[in-house]
Amino acid sequence: MNEETHRWLTGRFGGSIRFEEPMSGYTSFKVGGPADILAHPESVEDLVELIDGCKKRKLPLLVMGGGTNTLVKDSGIRGMVVVLSKGFDRIRKNKSPEAGRMIITAMAGARLGTLCGFAVKQGLKGLSFAAGIPGSVGGAIMMNAGTASGCMADILTSVTMLDSNGKIISFDRGSLRFEYRRLAGIIGSDENPESSVIIEGGFKLQSFDTQALEKETRVLMHERMKKQPVGLPCAGCFFKNPPAGKTAGQLMEEAGLKGKRIGGAQISTVHANFIVNRDNACAADILALMEHAQQTVFKKFGIRLQPEVKIVGA
Ligand SMILES: Cc1cc2nc3c(=O)[nH]c(=O)nc-3n(C[C@H](O)[C@H](O)[C@H](O)COP(=O)(O)OP(=O)(O)OC[C@H]3O[C@@H](n4cnc5c(N)ncnc54)[C@H](O)[C@@H]3O)c2cc1C
Repeated sequence: MNEETHRWLTGRFGGSIRFEEPMSGYTSFKVGGPADILAHPESVEDLVELIDGCKKRKLPLLVMGGGTNTLVKDSGIRGMVVVLSKGFDRIRKNKSPEAGRMIITAMAGARLGTLCGFAVKQGLKGLSFAAGIPGSVGGAIMMNAGTASGCMADILTSVTMLDSNGKIISFDRGSLRFEYRRLAGIIGSDENPESSVIIEGGFKLQSFDTQALEKETRVLMHERMKKQPVGLPCAGCFFKNPPAGKTAGQLMEEAGLKGKRIGGAQISTVHANFIVNRDNACAADILALMEHAQQTVFKKFGIRLQPEVKIVGA
């Protein structure tokens, strides 16, 4: 980084900027080398200025929320990582024109868990599929996070984003094309969602009994705890499920991969599609285990598993 960039960042953004910041502190895998620059903008204005400044200086940019679906390589990240959290965490309730419904608007840096809790307290149904999914609202929209019982695309009414030209634009649900675990495109626009920054989303929810919602959430969380490894750093399901047939977890389990270890990384003994950081793994251990799993499943079933986890870094 040149001196001018350093001066701009420290002069304009001060304490919200870190240099050579290890990414292990920002990802649920707890691995990853340093980002050249890590920024925590606390307002939309700061975000716009940071992104514009990066563009002018040709600095690569990566936006992150909770880092719960991201694997950062050991060599770290060149350029700037923008983490949306404080300042981007407002959640509010608005009336919907439809009887018995409400719209909750949540900013991208709000935790998905906080949004779920807010909906339950307000007696609003629709988000129960998301109970227990970690990370931010922005990450969840980008990943179209979900489970077999629902996904973000089912309840979204609108998304506001900062596009690649630095313009803040809102799209209604009908303009957004979602696929399995990704926001795939914007209808009638060349804008690539992956080059945009999600600022907030609106969610259409239905009035319901709070106590029944609380009970449903408790049951779902309990089920999740039984089926997933608890207490070990990971990024949830590592691979996407193939479009048809067995799930990635079933294929991996039948290929005998449960418990396989490379370095400090292990294929969970509880759920085969979870790679866990069992003992001070580095990203290279996790990547080696990923490749081993892909090759083993391919040899046995002829299916090439694709990672759901975003692998980033130099
Ligand atoms: C224990 C555990 C259980 C999990 N269970 C599930 C599950 O049941 N279902 C499921 O779908 N996922 C699950 N996940 C994966 C993960 O929690 C979700 O994908 C989550 O929605 C990611 O949110 P995040 O903020 O952490 O995203 P990050 O990892 O920070 O980012 C993910 C992607 O989104 C992009 N991104 C993030 N924020 C923005 C933004 N504001 N604007 C533009 N792009 C952005 C990033 O660049 C990256 O490409 C699980 C993970 C863990 C650790």
